[in-house]
Amino acid sequence: MTQVLIAGAGATGMTLAIELLRRNIAVRLVDSASGPFPGSRGKGVQPRSLEIFDLIGIADQMVAASSLYPFMKVHFGPFGFKTGSLGTHHPSSEARPYPNMLMIPQWRTEEILRAHLIKLGGRIEYDAGLAAVEQSGEGVTATLTSGEGIKAEYLIGCDGGRSATRKAVGLELGGRTLDGKTMIVADLEIENLDRTYWHVWPRTRGGPSSLCPLPNTDLFQLQSPEAIAENGLEKGILRATGKRVRRVAWQSRFHHQIRMVDRYRVGRVLLAGDAAHIHPPSGAQGLNTGIQDAWNLGWKLAWAVRAGNGDVLDSYEQERLPVAAAMLDLTKTLHVQASRERGDLTNQLALNYRDSPLSKGEPSGGIFPGDRVADRRLADGRRLFDLLRHTGATQLMRRDRRHVLVRPDGYVAQITDTKVMEYAGEAVRHVDVDH
Ligand SMILES: Cc1cc2nc3c(=O)[nH]c(=O)nc-3n(C[C@H](O)[C@H](O)[C@H](O)COP(=O)(O)OP(=O)(O)OC[C@H]3O[C@@H](n4cnc5c(N)ncnc54)[C@H](O)[C@@H]3O)c2cc1C
Repeated sequence: MTQVLIAGAGATGMTLAIELLRRNIAVRLVDSASGPFPGSRGKGVQPRSLEIFDLIGIADQMVAASSLYPFMKVHFGPFGFKTGSLGTHHPSSEARPYPNMLMIPQWRTEEILRAHLIKLGGRIEYDAGLAAVEQSGEGVTATLTSGEGIKAEYLIGCDGGRSATRKAVGLELGGRTLDGKTMIVADLEIENLDRTYWHVWPRTRGGPSSLCPLPNTDLFQLQSPEAIAENGLEKGILRATGKRVRRVAWQSRFHHQIRMVDRYRVGRVLLAGDAAHIHPPSGAQGLNTGIQDAWNLGWKLAWAVRAGNGDVLDSYEQERLPVAAAMLDLTKTLHVQASRERGDLTNQLALNYRDSPLSKGEPSGGIFPGDRVADRRLADGRRLFDLLRHTGATQLMRRDRRHVLVRPDGYVAQITDTKVMEYAGEAVRHVDVDH
């Protein structure tokens, strides 16, 4: 029997598989597609996701593949006006090594995750869609579209907005589509368009259209109402922007949706990422929230499998469902108000699990159980994140005996005056932070 079956090898499914492989859990990762996702779609990667990539050990590659968000240029006929940026341009500091949202085409983020997954001994089974699920107290039996049956201790549905896993366990995505419009997202090579700016044409057919330069490619990402392409995409873009399309590398359609489930877990089946919540692009939260679902779930699932007891998995929904709800509220507001406000609202650094049953005891010195642990330089010159980069929990030992126990995902579990030897089924690493 497989320990964990993951349906869907997008960013969420791969992050989860990496977290499980790091902990020597046997994983099968199946995907209905015939190969990797080729589009730039979710291109905004938030500071907290970058911190997670740092802890996984792939942040340098992400940064090398990225750019900062460019300033925007709004076009009215022959006139173009430079305006603000959707991203911040702050310098980094010890506490915030990744202060800005970075732009990385989604296919590139996934490529880096996939290479790391393979390095850890994992693999993706393509053309292997999940079709049906049955479960009992002991395990799950999933049937693939090929007819193959897979028995697993747990099944995690990371299979996107149309999740077959979600449907199989009878959960529904509640919520709504924000406006009736069908939108196009496409990766295009465009003749003679300045790559310094994210270009916006506010008055094209059906609403605004924009072309954003994608770093380390010769492509722009188009976001536009579908109406622009009524007589063909290339013709529509030429008419709306005066720019000629040289090549269409990828295109897709989407709607601005605000939807989520009201449960993340049905027995031994759990959902993560777009399978559980769908965001409009404003605020760049969908992919980031999925990566952080997986980051939250990975160590708990490994713990549950090793202990033969899934009780800790309830904390996944208790911690992550309110985050998705808050993010959906935020992205709805940003979308409806066409707001450019970003930064601390959207960077996901302030998210905490203070209300979680796993956050125990009293706060001390301004630190609350459930808070994210920020990076810093210790007295001996070591970087804290380097010391957290292992699979278990870490206890930061302080002279004042207010020892901070940090969960494997970098959030405070407890502040205590005792030395904790074991957490989540693994030995705790002790770090002297005063020397
Ligand atoms: C225009 C646009 C812009 C966006 N911009 C941003 C942004 O800047 N930042 C951001 O954070 N998010 C953004 N998003 C959202 C982001 O793209 C999604 O949130 C992200 O792709 C979700 O990742 P996921 O892994 O959960 O799901 P997906 O990426 O949808 O991956 C699901 C995987 O499951 C597979 N699958 C489907 N059905 C099955 C099945 N039955 N069995 C097995 N496998 C299956 C699919 O082939 C796919 O590989 C944007 C979205 C759009 C449309």
